[in-house]
Amino acid sequence: MTAKCSRAGCGAAATSLIEWANPKIHTSGRTKTWAACDEHLSFLVDYLSARNFFIGTKVIEAKHD
Ligand SMILES: [Zn+2]
Repeated sequence: MTAKCSRAGCGAAATSLIEWANPKIHTSGRTKTWAACDEHLSFLVDYLSARNFFIGTKVIEAKHD
């Protein structure tokens, strides 16, 4: 599976997954996942952190096969 960056207008291959939730709409522990390329990871984390939506990130293991 090749995920693409969730930043609007960016189609780069994602290198990380960002888990987040909006407590107002994501009740009972549901979370959302965004994918991010290297360039936009910090932008997206900052965006979610500023809204207290940020949960955590996971590195997507690169597969060269
Ligand atoms: Zn990107």
